[in-house]
Amino acid sequence: MAYTPDENRYESIAYNRCGNSGLKLPAISLGLWNNFGGEDVFENQRKMIRKAFDLGITHFDLANNYGPPPGSAEENFRRILEKDFAGYRDEMVVSTKAGFTMWPGPYGDWGSKKYLVASLDQSLKRMGLDYVDIFYHHRPDPETPLEETMAALDLIVRQGKALYVGISNYNAEDTEKAIDILERQGTPFIIHQASYSMLNRWVEDGLTDLLAKRGAGCIAFVPLAQGLLTDKYLNGIPEDSRAAKQYIRSLNEKDVSPDVIEKVQQLNEVARDRGQSLAQMALVWVLREKAVVSALIGASKVSQIEENVKALEKPDFTESEIDQIEKILR
Ligand code: NDP
Repeated sequence: MAYTPDENRYESIAYNRCGNSGLKLPAISLGLWNNFGGEDVFENQRKMIRKAFDLGITHFDLANNYGPPPGSAEENFRRILEKDFAGYRDEMVVSTKAGFTMWPGPYGDWGSKKYLVASLDQSLKRMGLDYVDIFYHHRPDPETPLEETMAALDLIVRQGKALYVGISNYNAEDTEKAIDILERQGTPFIIHQASYSMLNRWVEDGLTDLLAKRGAGCIAFVPLAQGLLTDKYLNGIPEDSRAAKQYIRSLNEKDVSPDVIEKVQQLNEVARDRGQSLAQMALVWVLREKAVVSALIGASKVSQIEENVKALEKPDFTESEIDQIEKILR
């Protein structure tokens, strides 16, 4: 049946301004790193994107290498756009990235202008788009001069292939250098995509201060620690979980360690006392941090997206809740 988006879709989510830019991002965004590749069920992917859009999630995050196989998430996203979203492109913020290994030889990896420009052209073809809203350099390159990588981002914007640019996985020191270079080149830096969750707080050590000071936003990826910060692993590793899937190597049995699960159990109690699920509490917790404009979630089921968006119904914490969480995480 033809899809018509929910007419109340802009009523349940907050849209936060990304730094000093004109761009607003939904407080919760959906990433296609896992569960959108060639090995996953297409109709489930389609249902998840539809549901996300119905709930007001306007931002979809991809990368050249998302799959497996690499590139297949962008191809599946194209099929979904063509089937269900013709006419809705201007209501969406689509991002992609390049920086990890994508094709063999010296031009398919890291941060050269040669790689970034070619990779974005390939991503646009795979997604069937004329431009992306945000293009990121996916990880710092220790060899290519930062000036060249930033010049590639500046060029891509001037070519009209991306409206905004950002970086991902850069430390605070290199982020500041990148911001300065882009400023000189005339293309503003608006966003850093950084890992951030209750179990991974490195951004609090200078990065978010810097972004706030320089008028840029932070989108927090893996805010649920790939599912660890949910009730999913409280009683072992379920069969339908990321940790159990053989073709995914980002989370495995040893990550679900007794130490982590003990913390998760305690956090789960705090969430329950707040009247939220642990996933919901973990999401609003990352949104408290300065400069963080969006929590970039993943999902394998429609019901997870529904549960996660409901997190925004209770965004505030009492001082005592914050103290309890700090004690558990210490
Ligand atoms: P999350 O931490 O949100 O983990 C998502 C997983 O958690 C889901 O696949 C699901 O696991 C589980 N989950 C989600 N909601 C619930 C719920 N309510 N109850 C129970 N389980 C739940 O993020 P991801 O690791 O998926 O990453 C999110 C996005 O971040 C990526 O898609 C990508 O866009 C971006 N990213 C960027 C990186 C970068 O280098 N810039 C690196 C990694 C990610 P299950 O599948 O087991 O059901």
